[in-house]
Amino acid sequence: MNAPASHVTIGDLPASDFIEMEHRLGAHNYKPLDVILTRGEGVWLWDVDGKRYFDCLSAYSAVNQGHCHPKILEAMVRQAGKLTLTSRAFRNDQLAYLYEELAELTGSHKILPMNSGAEAVESAIKAVRKWGYEVRGVPEDQAEVIVCSDNFHGRTIAIVGFSTDPTARQGFGPFAPGFKVVPFGDYAAFEAAITPNTVGFLVEPIQGEAGVVIPPEGYFRKVRELCTARNITLILDEIQTGLGRTGTLLAEEHEGIEADVTLVGKALSGGFYPISAVLSNSEVLGVLKPGQHGSTFGGNPLACAVARAALKVLVEEGMIENSAKQGGYFLERLRGVRANAIREVRGRGLMLAVELHPEAGGARRYCEALRQRGILAKDTHDHTIRLAPPLVVTREQIDWAMDQIDPVLTGLH
Ligand SMILES: *Cc1c(COP(=O)(O)O)cnc(C)c1O
Repeated sequence: MNAPASHVTIGDLPASDFIEMEHRLGAHNYKPLDVILTRGEGVWLWDVDGKRYFDCLSAYSAVNQGHCHPKILEAMVRQAGKLTLTSRAFRNDQLAYLYEELAELTGSHKILPMNSGAEAVESAIKAVRKWGYEVRGVPEDQAEVIVCSDNFHGRTIAIVGFSTDPTARQGFGPFAPGFKVVPFGDYAAFEAAITPNTVGFLVEPIQGEAGVVIPPEGYFRKVRELCTARNITLILDEIQTGLGRTGTLLAEEHEGIEADVTLVGKALSGGFYPISAVLSNSEVLGVLKPGQHGSTFGGNPLACAVARAALKVLVEEGMIENSAKQGGYFLERLRGVRANAIREVRGRGLMLAVELHPEAGGARRYCEALRQRGILAKDTHDHTIRLAPPLVVTREQIDWAMDQIDPVLTGLH
């Protein structure tokens, strides 16, 4: 370790000082908009200079319930004063309730609590491989999992190993074998990639980081039928699409299917705490025996209490229905914008995207201009602006946002 960097006092620093300190001391693995946020409430955020912003990212859909939801806050504070961590070496009086409420809500039979989304993905891959060997009889170390091009499932070595994004992969090898990549939304390619050793298909119902890419109608129904016929575990990564984001509890409902394994994270805590879970039929998670998988913080009582409150407000306060309703309205308003820069507007529920023509000069410029007008949105894959406000958004707030978005889309050349 080097000697500590210069003494710093964190007080009322100007925004430029925060940026300089982050730049000097932090790993540069992000390139954020230069806005220093200090407070949030519902769909609104405030920066250190007191300027207010409409949040159109919701921390990548982790804050579906709105910033600092009072009921989740209350549950968190109450539990934090009582018991926070026991490890799974002992039991706690919150985990069973979370299991019960999550199982009831999602129709799952077995649940594995983890912390980050990437950990839920890793856990599902481990379980499905083991299931392949023990239940399906796949020869040792031969299990294959099929994934899709342009996928985003997180940042661990195994996961970036089957990413098709060069930025996510380059320089991080060697990678784990056992994955096959097929184009997203292409049923024939999926069918052709299956071998007797295929144990699972890991896929996002709608690809979020790829730019809100919605597969062709009927794709998942056919995938579901084939997975059933060939005894392949369908693993839907609903870490971003789940918990109301697309206007239904889970995005799988849009095609009337049920995954064998569903991954949730992000909004499972309403943005208060890193919590994720693998939800499964009884068979796949059933293969895990004591000692074969775990996490010090996974299933801790603080996480469970927070998740229980986050799920409760999502359902009881009608946020899923509101996502469908306001999402439809927001989409219609965006489709009404007449701007040469726009190539396509798409979305489901409050998971929306405006894709710009490549000649428009990049989405980042538009996000900077939106920021000037009090809207925080994130560009993805150069040409797409993602719009995903918290699910508590009202029609009036969307109208206000459109008064800002319309001139930016029509005014920048
Ligand atoms: C965010 C995300 C992940 C990874 O979650 P982390 O908590 O960042 O590890 C995985 N899959 C999808 C679809 C995501 O959007």
